[in-house]
Amino acid sequence: MCLIEFYENCVLCPRQCRVNRVVDSADSKVGYCGETHQLRVAHVGPHFGEEPPISGKNGSGTIFFTGCSLKCSFCQNHQISHHGLGAGTSLEELGAEVIDMVEHDHIHNINFVTPDHFFPHIFQLGSLLRRNGFNLPIVYNLSGYQSVAALKSAKDYVDIYLPDYKYSDALLASALSKCRNYPQAALEAIAEMVSQKGFLDSSFTDAPLATKGVLVRHMVLPGKVSNSINALTTLFVEFGPDLPLSLMSQYHPVLPQENDDLNRPVSEEEFDRIYYHAKELGFKHLFVQFPEKDTGQRRANSPFLPDFKNPDPFPIA
Ligand code: SF4
Repeated sequence: MCLIEFYENCVLCPRQCRVNRVVDSADSKVGYCGETHQLRVAHVGPHFGEEPPISGKNGSGTIFFTGCSLKCSFCQNHQISHHGLGAGTSLEELGAEVIDMVEHDHIHNINFVTPDHFFPHIFQLGSLLRRNGFNLPIVYNLSGYQSVAALKSAKDYVDIYLPDYKYSDALLASALSKCRNYPQAALEAIAEMVSQKGFLDSSFTDAPLATKGVLVRHMVLPGKVSNSINALTTLFVEFGPDLPLSLMSQYHPVLPQENDDLNRPVSEEEFDRIYYHAKELGFKHLFVQFPEKDTGQRRANSPFLPDFKNPDPFPIA
């Protein structure tokens, strides 16, 4: 696989920027994700904040990439998605760092977080790890805004997909993530993921850890109950009651938001409406992160509010 050619006319995600991301080319440019073809990473380390079959006891081995093709206005990881925090690395250096994490931390899987704008690199990294005898499940932790063509290329390099389904409301998707086509693009992407890997296998057995399949996540946004209700209904209609679904309440305002609803956390009442809707629909494999009662000190120390300037970005992980 020639890495460079994927970046010369970049269509790796549905933004389809068609820019030449190759540094030092005459027409070199960055697209919406803000990254050139040079791999940049903000953090490598075990993470305990994923769902239990992903984090397990020893943690999920996360690799957080710099940049993002979605860039939601409220991103909880804004330091790396919007503001470019991270350092350049090579495939060999990153491979060595990942192998070191596997050997020292005994993580349960290798979890690429928001990797789609670097897909060609991580396909090669996955191959390199396999060639060196590392057979842990490979997880792609994604925004849901992926192109079906890119996912087809990813098929042989991934075991578990963790996509978001953020928006059913195209206007909200446009206002907060500048992608009016998110609802349909994400549904098509998730359908491709399910067709490749099925639903998360651990949901159907007593196994404590997942090895393969799809788990969809939905983070509830404050003041946007109807977006969440309709997102869950859509997922249920498209994929049925066996779709493993994770409902998250971890939203916290990290940047001032034009949409004033987003300048506060999600209330218990809002979250409960969505949780009971999921139950009423009949989802059988729900993971639920209920809102915290205390919105002061505990939120400040939340493992879901990382600080990537810190060598350990997840304070109480
Ligand atoms: S990966 Fe980046 S440059 Fe490529 S299409 Fe997506 S946003 Fe544009």
